[in-house]
Amino acid sequence: MTAEHPPYPAALRLTGRRAVVVGGGHVAQRRVPALLAAGAEVVVVSPQVTPSIEGLVSGGEVTWEQRGFRPEDLDEAWYVIAATNIGFVNEEVSRAAEERRIFCVRSDDASRATAWTPAVGRHAGTTVAVVSNREPRKSAALRDQIIDGLRDGALPVRVADKTPGVVLVGGGPGDPNLTTVAARRALADADVVVADRLAPRELLGELSPDVELVDVAKLPRGRSAAQEEINRVIVERALEGKKVVRFKGGDSFVFGRGYEEALACAAAGVPCTVVPGITSAIAVPALVGIPVTHRGVAHEFTVISGHLAPDHPESLVEWDGVARLRGTVVLLMAVQNLPAIAERLIAGGRAESTPVAVVCDGSMPTERTVWSTLAEVADDLVREAVRPPAIVVVGGVVAVANPDRYGPV
Ligand code: SAH
Repeated sequence: MTAEHPPYPAALRLTGRRAVVVGGGHVAQRRVPALLAAGAEVVVVSPQVTPSIEGLVSGGEVTWEQRGFRPEDLDEAWYVIAATNIGFVNEEVSRAAEERRIFCVRSDDASRATAWTPAVGRHAGTTVAVVSNREPRKSAALRDQIIDGLRDGALPVRVADKTPGVVLVGGGPGDPNLTTVAARRALADADVVVADRLAPRELLGELSPDVELVDVAKLPRGRSAAQEEINRVIVERALEGKKVVRFKGGDSFVFGRGYEEALACAAAGVPCTVVPGITSAIAVPALVGIPVTHRGVAHEFTVISGHLAPDHPESLVEWDGVARLRGTVVLLMAVQNLPAIAERLIAGGRAESTPVAVVCDGSMPTERTVWSTLAEVADDLVREAVRPPAIVVVGGVVAVANPDRYGPV
């Protein structure tokens, strides 16, 4: 048994089911009432028991086998608590439980147990169970705070805001910890969630099962077709009276096409509100220690979409002007066109040695950074097999973040 993985929480429904508690001391005494409260048929196996357990026995609530443990005691059990103060007995109980595939709590050594007892509290029909990484005091303290908060209203149970309409929610760069409180509230209240590939997808697992989830990554290919379909879905669902959350990566209005959706809502008379998100343009550099501005180094930063090559007829970017800027350039959607962009910046006057950082999968477990320069980045992209999504940062701030690589700024 290792504690590498977090425990899988489950709420056992023990009504009428046998729960065996081995040991009759103070640990057993603490556990038995909760088992009784859950309706379990409790059997205590122990040569001696505390007076309070004896009271439960004489009251007919608990069966007491007044003797030492035998593996067969577990034959009919659904749940086992090894609560003696003798290590080898607890070990024997664990082994017998393991053989019978019954989950077993251990009072002496949680690391050898197949189940842990959470700190439990109840309020208004809700059971609060807290499990920490074998820090029972911490669990109990947190449980107390939650229950107190529920009782005195400091932790209000929110009533969902089900106002029909569309909420454009920016989810941040990917790590759910970087999703705002307002974004989480909107998700919690949603009837329909229309989610992008780059939105923090872990949060979708928390949605209640009756929420309709539309996965944009599965919509027809092609940017325009997909966008028209998104506009159609969000408007249609909102007109049905539903609360629709359009859930995207970063901020909806930073290369997120969010305003097209706002316009589609306006055209259909659907109310549309916005929850700004933490844009990857600033957050992803920050996560790897690159500040987009720094005193004495960069007095501006420019965020540019690199989805079109600099010589593309539809490009709206004044690349020669960008090349003449002295500050930080942050490029999104630029992996494919980066060689051409780097060349153009050099041609426009930026030094070949200008530091460049390419941060892939920012805030995700696979995050990595390629440190390069304008002259070398085309080769480095190939050598490092860089794939989108990536944020490219160009300028002195990259050297500020990594003086070992570039020397002092
Ligand atoms: N609205 C988003 C950007 C959408 S454009 C925002 O504000 O962040 C999509 C581009 O964002 C990707 O091609 C990539 O350049 C960038 N991007 C988004 N999330 C990223 C992440 N976690 N790591 C690296 N780049 C990311």
